[in-house]
Amino acid sequence: MGWAFSNSYAALPGHFFSRLDPAAVAGPRLIKFNEPLGFELGLDRGRLDGPALASIFSGNSIPSGAEPIAMAYAGHQFGHFVPQLGDGRAILLGEVTDRHGVRRDVQLKGSGRTPYSRGGDGRAALGPVLREYLVSEAMHALGIATTRALAAVATGEVVFRDARLPGAILTRVAASHVRVGTFQFFAARADLDGVKTLADYVIDRHYPDVKSAERPYLELLRCVTRRHAELVAAWMHVGFIHGVMNTDNTAVSGETIDFGPCAFMDAYDPATVFSSIDARGRYRFENQPAAAQWNLARFAETLLPLIDADGGRAVEPATEVIAAYPAQFEERWLAGMRAKLGLFTQESGDAELVRAWLDVMHRNQCDYTLAFRRLCDAAAADAAAADAAAADGEAADGAAAGDAGLRDMFERPGEYLEWAANWRARVAREPKSGGERARAMRRVNPAFIPRNHRIEQAIAAAVEREDFAPFEEMLQVLSQPYVHQPRYEAYARPPQPGEKVLQTFCGT
Ligand code: AMP
Ligand code: MG
Repeated sequence: MGWAFSNSYAALPGHFFSRLDPAAVAGPRLIKFNEPLGFELGLDRGRLDGPALASIFSGNSIPSGAEPIAMAYAGHQFGHFVPQLGDGRAILLGEVTDRHGVRRDVQLKGSGRTPYSRGGDGRAALGPVLREYLVSEAMHALGIATTRALAAVATGEVVFRDARLPGAILTRVAASHVRVGTFQFFAARADLDGVKTLADYVIDRHYPDVKSAERPYLELLRCVTRRHAELVAAWMHVGFIHGVMNTDNTAVSGETIDFGPCAFMDAYDPATVFSSIDARGRYRFENQPAAAQWNLARFAETLLPLIDADGGRAVEPATEVIAAYPAQFEERWLAGMRAKLGLFTQESGDAELVRAWLDVMHRNQCDYTLAFRRLCDAAAADAAAADAAAADGEAADGAAAGDAGLRDMFERPGEYLEWAANWRARVAREPKSGGERARAMRRVNPAFIPRNHRIEQAIAAAVEREDFAPFEEMLQVLSQPYVHQPRYEAYARPPQPGEKVLQTFCGT
């Protein structure tokens, strides 16, 4: 298949993983292959038809050069440490170098039991596989660091959850699958050699620049912390709720990983929780930045003995790095929010303007994505009115020109109008033209996100009727989230009251 595997993780010490092949499945059938990603990964597609792809991406045939392994890791799950987790239903086939020279993991998820399966069956149901495919690809199109979906294959077998469900396997591509929980696996066993080997591996693979630093492991912590500040800020900008921010689901590469009960928020409410297992709201929308910091602190703990041979002396500098996270997050978050409001310059009152906007959306239960997108329309209408006034030789009056669509989203439009007056006053102090502003805003405020009710509809069609057309169409729409696609306007609409999905499930 023209895939030059070169497997660095499988060359690490034997206790980092278990070698085993994926379990064969009865009737593999290709649901979806991600052609552009396959190309990016250098896959020679010419010689591979649907059945050949289904055979490879179900694990029924192992491509030459692959060295299948299940990785060992540990993790804090909802705050409780579990010393032994690991790939319980995933097999890393190996690593390939993509067209940009970046090493990428190719992993099958749902590929059978492993030594780390505990009570699980090692399998995945079709619904969660389609959800991960849709959401991870949507995240990528939104410009957010994430694992990718290369293929989805139906297994032709039944998996038992609360019902009999069709089984499937997702092929996930990641910068790597090393998690904070991988470090914890060795740290919990007081295996300092293991921690060091892993840290050196991660530095080589993801953060080679830190090698020349005076304290490379402290610098590694700083880099990972910075990436997560960036990542979680990006989530907050688009209303993404991960749902299971456990340390075993925290990639040290800074990619979003593990799309279990994840969902995008419709109406803005910072306390939103979707996951059925997050009863206490640990991973609610507004708590994501703090949850990431908590996870990074667990990462820091594993590195202490590497930062300083006397681990006690490492506590202070490591704490300093973790303590710097909230400010880094805030800076990233505010920069993105300024862009979403069409602000190119910085003023001291900007954070307040942003918070007031969120507040007024919350009080009026506005749809988060649609409100921002309509604000782009308002900016465009203001720009057009200003141009027309200039052509007539009059001064634009700066009043609301074309924001009726936005105003109508608010139960109490007066609250919106009051905020909008402040926004317009602020925008009037910007050097760029209104037209430039509206265009820039549309590049950062998506029209299309993978709305939960749409995902559920696409899954239901596939599971109940073997109809994959809604899944395909949704993927298509979400591949250009910032582009005005009038044909697909329905995908931009928030759910009707009867369509609202209030809870999501891990599906494991
Ligand atoms: P998750 O909640 O998806 O992050 O999974 C937590 C742990 O449970 C990981 O070690 C998974 O590999 C494992 N796991 C989840 N589902 C299954 C399953 N169906 N069979 C075996 N292991 C599983
Ligand atoms: Mg996981």
